[in-house]
Amino acid sequence: MYEVGPRTFGGKHGGVVSAEAQRSPKPLGQVRILAPLQKMATLKIVTYPKKILKVRAQEVPEITQEIERLIPQMIETMYGSQGIGLAAPQVGISKRLIIVETSDDPRATVRETSRHVRGRPLAFLNPVIVKKSKETAIDEEGCLSLPGIFVPVKRAESVEIVCQTADGSKVRVETGGLTARIFQHEIDHLEGKLIINHLDPLRKFKIRRQLKELVQKIK
Ligand SMILES: [Zn+2]
Repeated sequence: MYEVGPRTFGGKHGGVVSAEAQRSPKPLGQVRILAPLQKMATLKIVTYPKKILKVRAQEVPEITQEIERLIPQMIETMYGSQGIGLAAPQVGISKRLIIVETSDDPRATVRETSRHVRGRPLAFLNPVIVKKSKETAIDEEGCLSLPGIFVPVKRAESVEIVCQTADGSKVRVETGGLTARIFQHEIDHLEGKLIINHLDPLRKFKIRRQLKELVQKIK
């Protein structure tokens, strides 16, 4: 999921080592840091209308080496694209794994378009929403798989989720506000559902040209 609103466009995220550290290498005893480590490679983001975005993703029965490697790559990819959430199908892997920015203010991680501040991205496996609040909220959402499209989506204000964390422990997550929105958006991806599937026919009609452009880009 993108940060809400088009103001996130045009920015490049910062490197692994802060600009400060690069400018003035600090002596660590006899060791001097001369150059930042190479950035981790980011994954290619799959965009609409690719089929993988429309199908139900598979459960993750155990945390394999492949999953362990995938998690940091997905986090890197999310940050590199100014995202605050990412689901595995969006990087071409049809598995029930999502990354969610869980800091108190997820928007703060992408507020400055010149750099993407690292927040608290966490991986969740096999997430299931077990409770939804009756209260709902409508807010504009974007999606890394639907570049340029921002639409209002109605979501539960707060949710409870049962899932596993990256170390395999089963947890129950209770969350509200924007974080609850990110969870619902990413879990939708695992069901093959996109933000455009929430739209009424008139709203969908209004963005038909943008959708057509995305289809043509892929051809
Ligand atoms: Zn999305």
